[in-house]
Amino acid sequence: MHIVYKSEPERGRIWQRWLAAHAPDIQLHIWPETGDPEQVEALVAWQPPADITVLFPRLKLLFSVGAGADQFDLGALPPDLPVIRMIEPGLTQGMVEYVTFAVLGLHRDMPRYFHQQRQQQWLAHAVLPAAQRRVGVMGLGELGQAALQQLVALGFDCAGWSRTPRQIPGVRCWHGDDQLGAFLAHSEILVCLLPLTDTTQGLLNRTLFNQLPQGAALVQAGRGPQLNQDDLLQALESGQLRAAVIDVTDPEPLPPGHPFWHHPAIWLTPHIASQTQNESAIAALLENLRRYQRGEPLHGEIDRSRGY
Ligand code: NDP
Repeated sequence: MHIVYKSEPERGRIWQRWLAAHAPDIQLHIWPETGDPEQVEALVAWQPPADITVLFPRLKLLFSVGAGADQFDLGALPPDLPVIRMIEPGLTQGMVEYVTFAVLGLHRDMPRYFHQQRQQQWLAHAVLPAAQRRVGVMGLGELGQAALQQLVALGFDCAGWSRTPRQIPGVRCWHGDDQLGAFLAHSEILVCLLPLTDTTQGLLNRTLFNQLPQGAALVQAGRGPQLNQDDLLQALESGQLRAAVIDVTDPEPLPPGHPFWHHPAIWLTPHIASQTQNESAIAALLENLRRYQRGEPLHGEIDRSRGY
């Protein structure tokens, strides 16, 4: 089987060596090298080349190297070409670590203490036990559920929100637009782990912030266009929100001088909440290629009607 990889070449070389050792029947070509294009059955890419079906007439699968597929123009791809996003344990673990770090940091008021430190101010505030801190996670998929498992283990009072009903031990689950208000009213620390779709674009806006308890905090680790940046700044200014941990922005990177760079209540990270890990990701990719060869359903196939 021949596959073409089009992303960071260094990772491609690692994957090439790994496949040679573990699955020598699979030939991975690193773009722009493609081998015989007529033989290529799968493309693994962050951004596919234009005209992929002309380039690769026998293409059967398009894999994203990342956890989302929102970077693909799904409408421009052949409608019957399966698009598969990356689900792999290394990526999930990275997100669990980031969300745990961010929630603990906000729970323990760390942005405020870092600000105080810069002011040379020694001032203690009340410490709330985790059991009295209500944390709400938007998006109860691979990443949201894994993050909640850790937050539940830490003793937080946890809730979640998804499009369709979910049941997660120790988590109060809400779903759909009708129940969004009830979920938000519960969320003193709101974590966004939603995919970017037409519905979630701009969702983190003033209307939503106003439904959170006053003084709530935000962790945004979904995708940049979900957040209305001006509305966040206003919510921080008014005290409706007290702090935010922001990993994804629109655009990325933010331009020099953008208010997020130096805002005392914002922690900004450069889209590093989680990254595809070479070894566990190639093992996950191989498992999906084997599923394809056996005619089994693929893990992480995008439902184009939902957009994720
Ligand atoms: P999944 O597809 O497994 O889960 C998505 C979840 O979002 C599901 O629970 C789904 O509901 C819910 N959802 C989608 N649309 C809506 C909606 N309109 N209203 C309510 N809930 C909705 O995705 P993952 O957990 O694997 O990843 C989530 C996102 O995290 C990625 O798409 C990506 O944007 C982001 N990400 C960010 C990274 C970073 O470094 N910052 C790294 C990796 C991912 P339902 O359960 O009903 O289907």
